[in-house]
Amino acid sequence: MDRPARIVTDSMIGMKLPDYARLSPRVATVLGHNPGPFTGPGTNTFIVGASRRPILLDTGQGVPIWADFLVEAMTELAHARELDRIVVTHAHPDHDGGVAQARERFGDIMVLKMPWPGHDKVSADSMTAIGPDAVIEADGVTLRAIHTPGHAPDHLCYYLLEERALFTGDVVLGAGTTVIPDDTGDLGQYMDSLHRLLELDIETIYPAHGPVIHNPKEKIREYIAHRQLRDRQILDALEQGPLEVMAIVKKIYTDVPEYLHPAAARSVRSHLKKLGQERRVTEHEQRWSLE
Ligand SMILES: [Zn+2]
Repeated sequence: MDRPARIVTDSMIGMKLPDYARLSPRVATVLGHNPGPFTGPGTNTFIVGASRRPILLDTGQGVPIWADFLVEAMTELAHARELDRIVVTHAHPDHDGGVAQARERFGDIMVLKMPWPGHDKVSADSMTAIGPDAVIEADGVTLRAIHTPGHAPDHLCYYLLEERALFTGDVVLGAGTTVIPDDTGDLGQYMDSLHRLLELDIETIYPAHGPVIHNPKEKIREYIAHRQLRDRQILDALEQGPLEVMAIVKKIYTDVPEYLHPAAARSVRSHLKKLGQERRVTEHEQRWSLE
């Protein structure tokens, strides 16, 4: 039986999103204005809460125009002048890069995140460390942290109880798939994170990149199937004998433009790392073969 060449078929290339928009009674979004091959139109940052002191969830890359739009969105959409707190999904620069701008505009507000020593740019004395299942309450909203390592070891998704909505950060994106870095990432942990998210009662996913997801279970299952297919394709590619990473990329990513092959190679390395941990492949002088 022929297997499909890919499972996730949409992408964020060329996608446009508004500067800011209201998404639900409790959630508004402000675009980070940091477009790129991996960020799509840019990072989605979120104003969470219907009160005069909402929470800011993620801060984008630190692009000045984002902070201007944040102030506009706070006034026009949230009718608020103050932020309660900032919560951050993980210490990648397109998520915690705007903390300083937000504080310039809204004062020295508290920043909550799970620590990642050596990677946190928010200084330890101005960061409030939260644990893997912290509960954050503001006026009318409750966010429950869910530790979802794999994309990054400190990654927290946040479950908005009042809407049964999940802020997935970079674990699940609105289109395309996420990068699992082959050094700081861990695909085995990532798969485990996806399986745990699948058990939640979710109606909506607010991803950090791309549009809102209204079919959460289907999307998460698609992400799991996508990685399982990649595992299979790599094992198939190695059936003929040992291969270097780039040779595997060229065999599998036939429908991906060449400028994305280095990123694809990182992804393949993440898969090989996982398959190695499972003792299904082994490396010898940069060539991989089946165990
Ligand atoms: Zn990230």
